[in-house]
Amino acid sequence: AVPDRLALVEVVPSSMQSPVKAAQTGREWTFHQLHSDARRCASWLSARFSKGDRVCIWAPNVPEWIVLQYGAALSGLVLVTANPALKPSELRYVIEQSRSRAIFHLEQFRGVDTGSVARQMEEVGIQRYSFDGWLEEVRGTTEAVLPDVDSGLPAQIQYTSGTTGQPKGALLRHRALVTNASYVAVRAGLDGSVLVSPMPLFHTAGSVMSVLGSVTTRSTLILPLLFEPSLVLDAIATWRAQVVFGVPTMLLAMIEQLKSAPRDLTSLRAALSGGAPVPPELHRRVREALKTPLMTVYGQTELSPIVSQTTFDDPEDKRIHTVGRPLWNVEVRIAVSATFEALPLESEGEIQVRGYQTMIEYFDKPEETRETITKDGWFRTGDLGKMDACGYLQITGRLKDMIIRGGENIYPVEIEACLIRHPDVADVAVFGVPDATWGEVVAAAVRITSDSKTTAEELVNHCRKAMAPHKAPTLWFGSTEFPLTASGKVQKFKLREALANGAL
Ligand code: ATP
Repeated sequence: AVPDRLALVEVVPSSMQSPVKAAQTGREWTFHQLHSDARRCASWLSARFSKGDRVCIWAPNVPEWIVLQYGAALSGLVLVTANPALKPSELRYVIEQSRSRAIFHLEQFRGVDTGSVARQMEEVGIQRYSFDGWLEEVRGTTEAVLPDVDSGLPAQIQYTSGTTGQPKGALLRHRALVTNASYVAVRAGLDGSVLVSPMPLFHTAGSVMSVLGSVTTRSTLILPLLFEPSLVLDAIATWRAQVVFGVPTMLLAMIEQLKSAPRDLTSLRAALSGGAPVPPELHRRVREALKTPLMTVYGQTELSPIVSQTTFDDPEDKRIHTVGRPLWNVEVRIAVSATFEALPLESEGEIQVRGYQTMIEYFDKPEETRETITKDGWFRTGDLGKMDACGYLQITGRLKDMIIRGGENIYPVEIEACLIRHPDVADVAVFGVPDATWGEVVAAAVRITSDSKTTAEELVNHCRKAMAPHKAPTLWFGSTEFPLTASGKVQKFKLREALANGAL
C-alpha cells in the first residue's frame, strides 16, 4: 500500500522562478502522487524506448528528476546522470561515452540557455525532451503493462564527479542502490521524519541516499533546487526538519551564514555528512551552531555509495575520529595496495571492499574496471585507512592525494584537520606542489573568516604546535572560493593547475 502522506516538496529560492516553465514553485507530492507519476512515466518511456536503453538526465534538483528516476527504474531503462554544471563538450562526452539514446533537460538554468545546448546534442543522433510541459504529458499517459525488471540489472550510470580528472561512468545495480540507501537511512534514524537534502541528484548522495533513503523509510524529502546556505537553513526552519544532509563544505558555509542571520533550528536531531574528510572540528561547530550531533558516512560512487557510517550510540571518540563501522552485508579489508596482501587490524593500508554494492563495471572501460576490481571481487577504493578490533574504520589519506616530500609520505587530511581547528579558518584545502629540491612540497589554500587578520606565519606556528614541522605547509594562498565539484568537493587538481598558471 502506498501511504497518502507528503513524500516530496520542491524548494526554489525566492529570487528565482522555477526553471520548469509553467510549473508552480513549491510543488508537493504525496507518496500516492509520486507513485502514480512514476508508473505513468514508466508507461510513457516504454512507448518510446526499449528495456536496457540508456537515457541521460542533465538538470539540477527539480522534482521531474525524481519522477524520471522512478519511471526509468520501473521501465528497465538505465539513467545516465549528468552534472547540470557540465559544459557542452563535457556533456557530449557523457552522452557519447554512455551511448545514451535521449537527453532530458531544462530550457534555462542560471542564465544558461540549456535548451540550445541540448539541441546541439541532437547532432550525435539522440532524442531530446525538455521538462517544460513534460509532467502534464506524462500524467496524460494511459498506464501500460510494465516489464519485469530484475534487481540485478543496471539502474544508473553515475560519472565520478572528477576531483581527480576524466570522469568514468560507474554502472550501478537496482538492488545495490535501494539496499544501500535503506541501510543508511535506517542507521540515520530517518523513519518517517522530514529530511532537507541539498545534495545534487546526479550524485549518489542525492538520487540514492536522499531520494531512495527517504522513500524507503517513508520520510518527507524537502528538495532545494540548488545549494545556497540560506535556502537550506530556511527550509529546515520552515519545515521543522529533523535531519539535514550535506558535505562538509556545505555545512561550513551554513554555519558561516547562520552567524549573520540566526534561525530556529531546534527541530534538528541529526546532521549527516561525508563524501570528504569530516574533521572533529566540524563535529564541534555543527553541535554548537546547528545544535545537533553529526553523523559521518564514508563511501564512493562506485560502491552505491556508502560503506561505513557512525551512529549516535558510538562512543564520542569513535564518532568524531572515525567513519564508523561498515554497514550490513559488506566485507571491508585493509590491504597492501600493490600486492593485495590483507593486513592485520590497526595497520594502515588501502581500504578494499567486497559485497552486493560494488558497481558492475566502469561502463565500457574494461581496462579501468580490471584495475579497480580484483578477480575475486575486491574493489580498490584508493583510500588509505585502518580498522580497530571493534570494526571502526579510520580514513588516513587518499593514495591519489598523498604528498611525497623528500621521501616522507604526507596526507593532506591530517593537515586540513589541524588547520580547521584554528578559529579564523573557515575552510581549507591542502595539496602537493612539484618542487625541484623536495620532489613535492605542501601547499595550503585557506579561506579565512571575514573578520580575521591572521597571517601565514601564525598558521604555520599553529601547525607546528600540533604536527611534525615538515608537515606544515610552506606555500600559502588566501582563497575566497574553491573550485568545487557540484557535490561540493574541492577539486585539488584545479588548484594545482591554477598555481601552475600563476592564477592562484
Ligand atoms: P574521483 O573519483 O574522480 O576522485 P570524487 O572524489 O568526487 O571523484 P566520489 O565517489 O564522489 O568521487 O568520492 C569518493 C571519495 O570521497 C572517497 O574515495 C574518499 O576519498 C572521499 N570520502 C568520502 N567520504 C569520506 C569521509 N567520510 N572521510 C574521508 N573521505 C571521504
